[in-house]
Amino acid sequence: MADEIMKSLYRIVVPLPNSPLKDLNSYVIKGEDRNLIIDTGFNRSVCYEAMKKGLDELDIDLDRTDFMLTHMHADHTGLVLRLASESSKIYFSRIDARVFDKDISWQPLIDFAELNGFPAGELQKAIASHPGLKYSPHEIPVFTLVDDGDVIECGSYRLRCVATPGHTKGHICLYEEVKKIFFSGDHILFDITPHIESWAYDTNSLADYIASLDKIYDLPVNLVLPGHRNFQGSLKKRIDELKIHHRERADEVLKVLGSETLNAYAIAARMTWDIDCETWEDFPIAQRWFATGEAIAHLRYLEGEGRITRDATEKIVTFCATS
Ligand SMILES: [Zn+2]
Repeated sequence: MADEIMKSLYRIVVPLPNSPLKDLNSYVIKGEDRNLIIDTGFNRSVCYEAMKKGLDELDIDLDRTDFMLTHMHADHTGLVLRLASESSKIYFSRIDARVFDKDISWQPLIDFAELNGFPAGELQKAIASHPGLKYSPHEIPVFTLVDDGDVIECGSYRLRCVATPGHTKGHICLYEEVKKIFFSGDHILFDITPHIESWAYDTNSLADYIASLDKIYDLPVNLVLPGHRNFQGSLKKRIDELKIHHRERADEVLKVLGSETLNAYAIAARMTWDIDCETWEDFPIAQRWFATGEAIAHLRYLEGEGRITRDATEKIVTFCATS
């Protein structure tokens, strides 16, 4: 079903079964000549059917429609090739486009997870059940690459790309300056917190994320349209809350660490998670994967602040509080 947000702007809610995110917001702008669809859902039939139904209701001609994908995750990019026509432009971040490189492999991720204490025997299973592998586009799309500051026009909408690294390295939000609308992708969410993970020690995703929150803090915005769930809230207030959340999470990691020396997987196991499982061992493997990535992001952040020290001399990387 499609709901009207304002003149020529609609939202289609695309279900994401078995995902804690519940659904994805796909935004549709109807222009005079061409339309624009912002984010698409997973590459699976249940998402395709919801999109098709919404687009039919809105009488969208896919031969006159372009796409903008806020970041590389499969719940945003997955369906694009099933919806795009030959004339469709697919706007996408130059930085996130690198993960679609045909030479990219999951092996460095697997090695890095093992280095951080993820049980070696479970790694292949974790990758196999990763939605990024299962529900991505089956081919590499031909992208029209965009960078910070580029403008995408559709009808009376003039959307400025705002690079907001953190949730992914190349995450892009869209800002409509005159209408004061901010399409926030997964950079700002309201009833859940965006997932921030690190899968390499040379990236400090959480520091990047906080800098990207500060970057947009003063934008005049009346309406924030996030990639998931609801949109009833002020941008500034939400940014303040998200910064407090990560501060508290980092403090929790310090508390878990105490005076011990632990690896990231063991730290993730002792952190609190908003998931319906009695024990860490009961977590579905994909959730243990995401939790470990989030723990690493906070560990890397604390290390950057000089509050903890990383020891990479052994087979498994460990952390301890800086004395
Ligand atoms: Zn995402």
